[in-house]
Order: sequence, then C-alpha cells, then structure tokens
Amino acid sequence: MLHTSYIELSKDALNSNINYIRKRIGKDVKYSMVVKANAYGHGIEELLPMIEECGVDHFSVFSVAEAMRAWEIKQEHCELMIMGFVDDDYLQWAIERDISFFVFTLHRLKKVIEVAKKMDQAARIHVELETGMHRTGFCEDEMEEVSRLLKKHSKHLEIEGICSHLAGAENIVNYRRITNQIERFKELCDWFGAEGFQPKYRHLACSAGVLNYPSSILDMVRVGISNYGFWPSDETKMMHMKEEGFEEDPLDRVLSWKTEIMSVNRVKEGNYVSYGKSYLTNRDSKIATAPVGYGYGFSRNLSNNGHILVKGKRVPVVGSVNMNMLVMDVTDVPDLKVGDEVVLIGKQGDAVISVGSFSDMNNSMNYELLTRLPNHIPRRIVP
Ligand SMILES: *Cc1c(COP(=O)(O)O)cnc(C)c1O
Repeated sequence: MLHTSYIELSKDALNSNINYIRKRIGKDVKYSMVVKANAYGHGIEELLPMIEECGVDHFSVFSVAEAMRAWEIKQEHCELMIMGFVDDDYLQWAIERDISFFVFTLHRLKKVIEVAKKMDQAARIHVELETGMHRTGFCEDEMEEVSRLLKKHSKHLEIEGICSHLAGAENIVNYRRITNQIERFKELCDWFGAEGFQPKYRHLACSAGVLNYPSSILDMVRVGISNYGFWPSDETKMMHMKEEGFEEDPLDRVLSWKTEIMSVNRVKEGNYVSYGKSYLTNRDSKIATAPVGYGYGFSRNLSNNGHILVKGKRVPVVGSVNMNMLVMDVTDVPDLKVGDEVVLIGKQGDAVISVGSFSDMNNSMNYELLTRLPNHIPRRIVP
C-alpha cells in the first residue's frame, strides 16, 4: 500500500440502489443522479462511468467547475445540469455545450439572454421557484417580470424545466413546511402552464422526497445521497421501512474506507495515550495505530468518540485523532498483527460502521463526513 488508506466502490451496491430508486419513481420519470461535491466524496472520475453502466444518463452538479470535470468523463449522450453557481464569464461555456442550468435571479436571467443572443443559440434553462425554502428561487413578486422576459426572448431560451428544492424533507418536524412546498410548487406550475409555458420537466424531489413524499415525484427527480446507499437521516429510513414493511435496509453502501494496522503496543494501566491527557488507560491495554488522521478526512471530532473495525470487532478510537494517525484500544482483540485490515467505513464480518455511526452523531452528518473524504485517497472498484 503506497497511500495510507484506500476507498472501495461497489458496483453491485450502486446498481442495486439505482434499481431500487428507479422502481420507486417509475419508468416515465427522468432520473438525474446528483454527483456534486466529488460524487458525495466517492470520487467522480471513478463513479460516473459506473453510474452510466447502470443506465443513468443525466447528472446534476452544483457548479461550472464540477460540470467541467463531469464533462471530461461522461459519455456523449449523457446530459449535465448545473443546480447552483455559474459565473457570468462561464455562461457561454455552458450554453455552447448545451448544458442546462438553474436560473434563480433576474440578474442571471438577463445575462443568459444577453449571452445566448450574442451566440445566436438557445440556452437550456431550469427556472427555479421559491416555494418556502427561502434560499434561492424567483419570488412571487418577480414572476410577472420573469414570464415577460421568457416570452419576449423565447428564441434564445429553451425552458427545459421548472423546479424548486425542499427545505429539510429528511426531518419529520418539517412535515407541514414540506407539504406546503409541494402544494405551492404545483400551484406555481399551473400558473406557468396558464402563461403558456410547457417545460419538459417539473422537478422538486431529492432523496428524502423520493423516499418519504411520493407526491413530490413529478417529471424528474434529483437524487443524491440514497444512490450511494446512505439515508438522508435515521428518520427517513424508519419512515420508509415502516411504510414499505421492510425488515432490512433496501439500500447498500457503495463506499468502504479501509486501511491497515501500522503498529501495536502494550500500555500499562494508568498511562495517558497519545497527545495530552484526554485518554487514560484503566487497565493493562493493547493500543494500535492506523495511518489515517484528520489530515486525511478522519475528523478530529472522532477523538475518544469514533469506532473502527478490526478482525470483525468494533473498537474505540482513544485519545485525540492526530493529523496522520489514529489510535485505538485493541485490548479485546486477540492475535492482532501489523498489516491487518482496518475498516473505517464499511463492513467486516458481521460488523458495520456506517458513516453515521462513524461517530455517535446523527445520520444527517453523512453528507458532511462523506464530502470531506479527500480526493487523493486511491479508489478501487470492486464487485
Ligand atoms: C444536493 C441537492 C439534491 C440532492 O439531495 P439528496 O438529499 O442528496 O438527494 C437535490 N437538489 C438540489 C438542488 C441539491 O442541491
């Protein structure tokens, strides 16, 4: 092992998740897989071709920089959509390639018209509407002006979609807010229809929408985290499994993160381990290290808090997580040797470390912990 750890990406798990979601949305709904933030930390270069093999042909990213990376790897027939940041200077780049993007301010809309006119080409846009998240999207008082501009410049605008985003569908306390948003979005779609616009895709649902709010599934879905086999939150999982009557998790984790034992030491009772005084041995202990620390994506928050798998057993991280290594208490693991496999995220025997239980933190940390996985860790594709 040249690098200090590696990430495995499972083809079968990805395929099974995609099939599961596809079955749920039905075959007439466009499936856009969200691959922003380096495919949620999985590694877009490796993952995107794997997704294509599963038959998905539409990808959503956040920015032009991400779109450029995806553009380099994707097959020609696959489509790209930018949901967030597009600098004025890069509008031309996107329009030239027929990459679609969200438009959510009058500034953006006017610039798009200006650039598309100059290029004498139509820009493919998705008009984002404010429905209750109060983040991005056209507000009610802008709608007349938006409609006027869209009509006036119809030659240079292809209105491919209208969309909005749900404000926390993974959390049941937001139930009213989310159902109001779904209603509001449908009203706005009707208003758009009455104005004479017939966009190909109306889209609102993210993972939690698809899993818990079937009424948010319209002509297209933008699904991220659940493709990778993670739930948006524990609640989403509980609600979904209860509704469907499942005993077992229908999603499979695509990613595993592994390293190996670097050293094993004996430490007598009553000694501090690693920097400072945060961990004191309360028995004669066996302490092991692995060459992964916060500098490699293993959060310092997991100091004296996280767990790791060795020899199919869960062992605690002890002391502070260092920049390049972490220390674990392996007193209860017999026959542990240098070079033995260490699982930071994933399965080993019957034991599992999900990203959520990676610490005892809430599952909604999945998003953050995943996207912190550095791109320099080598990826290996496994069945
Ligand atoms: C990230 C994102 C999604 C996907 O969300 P998941 O919860 O990962 O499915 C969908 N839409 C927008 C606008 C997003 O930013």
